[in-house]
Amino acid sequence: MKAQPNASHFVNGEYIDDENGEVIEVTYAYGEEVIARLHAATPQIMEKAIASARAAQTAWAAMAPVERGRILHRAVGIIRERAEELALLETLDTGKPLQETRAADWPSGADALEYFAGLAATLTGETMPLGGDFAYTLREPLGVCAGIGAWNYPSQIACWKAAPALSVGNTMVFKPSEITPLGALKLAEIFIDAGMPAGVFNVVQGYGAVGAQLATDPRIAKVSLTGSVPTGGKVYAAAAGQMKHVTMELGGKSPLLVFDDASLEDAVGAAMLANFYSSGQICSNGTRIFVQKGIKEAFLQRLTERMAKITPGDPMDEATDFGPLITRAQRDKVMGYIEAAKSEGARLVAGGTAGADLFVAPTVFADVTDDMAIAREEIFGPVMSVLEFETEDEAIARANATQFGLAAGVFTSDMTRAHRVVAQLQAGTTWINAYNLTPVEMPFGAVKGSGFGRENSRHAIEHYTQIKSVYVGMTPVDSPW
Ligand code: NAD
Repeated sequence: MKAQPNASHFVNGEYIDDENGEVIEVTYAYGEEVIARLHAATPQIMEKAIASARAAQTAWAAMAPVERGRILHRAVGIIRERAEELALLETLDTGKPLQETRAADWPSGADALEYFAGLAATLTGETMPLGGDFAYTLREPLGVCAGIGAWNYPSQIACWKAAPALSVGNTMVFKPSEITPLGALKLAEIFIDAGMPAGVFNVVQGYGAVGAQLATDPRIAKVSLTGSVPTGGKVYAAAAGQMKHVTMELGGKSPLLVFDDASLEDAVGAAMLANFYSSGQICSNGTRIFVQKGIKEAFLQRLTERMAKITPGDPMDEATDFGPLITRAQRDKVMGYIEAAKSEGARLVAGGTAGADLFVAPTVFADVTDDMAIAREEIFGPVMSVLEFETEDEAIARANATQFGLAAGVFTSDMTRAHRVVAQLQAGTTWINAYNLTPVEMPFGAVKGSGFGRENSRHAIEHYTQIKSVYVGMTPVDSPW
């Protein structure tokens, strides 16, 4: 088979398998051919993975941070040397065009590893003078962390979780999505090639039940999930039972506000990226485009003109910039939302069709109202909803009227307004005159129902370490007894 790995899991520095595990078929979304056949982790595999991560953690945490950083830096070098091979595998795993996987997936993962490799040796505690006595703090790793991934950015997600976790001395058991299990195995392999000790980063495959085992095993100190809101609720609840730390990177229905003084070209370009990149399968997508009344028709006109340039096709073809959806179930779900929008009275401006394959045409609905399903629920496909607004206050109130709080954006040439609006938008990540850019230097995360915790930036460190206070008595103990 085209992309069959050496074995299903990577544990304690090597590929291992147990064919008693439930079968996981990996399908290439373009043509729907089975390209690999893996097995879900059995209790024996799980035991080995968690025990290996536990055993490796003490020595890994005791290593000088600069040395851990050096190993992560070597991994970055290997990823960049093997960039083409990794991009090809990512395209097979996800069906995303090579044009994207070359530019976004592993490159963003490598950036995260590079950033935290450099940060590791700069982290320090604090000293508190107490007049004779003093206190200081130690920033300690949590222990063994579990990472559970979604299918849309499988290798980036593995890197975004591994980089901060490992840099500060945690070890990790990572479970990729059962739909895209291949990239994380490569990351595990690359870490070993870079000189990382066996057991520091382990990959186990499986469906939700394997993720649930990680969330409930008492040896796991922290669970970092990237997935949907319903899964987040289950994992958060399971982790709470044992007071585990969590990071929850969940779904969204993010608003993008376009005021009538915005650069039309930039706003249209951002709206397209925010709905059609990765065929719309991005958590932070701006799927509710609120356009001010005065420029709405011009916006739609320019949007449909520029959409004619979108080039769907074979993801391996370098000219292709729009690929299929990940699975038939996802395609059917997206088409269900398109049909619902039509019956609820939204105006179809572009697309709205699907082939016999997994392609859904880039789709735009105008005259969308806040109560329609396409304006309330995460679709995770190439479906843009355009909603009209008149005043700033109205746009902000409508943008915030959602359980989600992942991302938001505003396009305007009035900078005072831009900052005023962004300050009122309920979202963890916001953009002014830009959309969906997630450099590693900037924290990424959510508020409200879209999650908890932050990935990337120095703030991610807070979510993979804990503070120990040390009070140092320098004077005789003052006791009344
Ligand atoms: P999903 O929730 O179905 O699955 C995510 C992961 O959780 C998978 O690995 C799955 O096997 C596992 N899982 C399922 N049930 C579990 C359980 N009970 N316990 C533990 N693990 C369990 O999500 P998906 O369909 O793979 O991904 C799409 C979703 O991910 C979308 O909602 C999207 O918005 C979200 N997402 C969020 C971010 C972010 O950073 N906020 C990034 C990418 C994707």
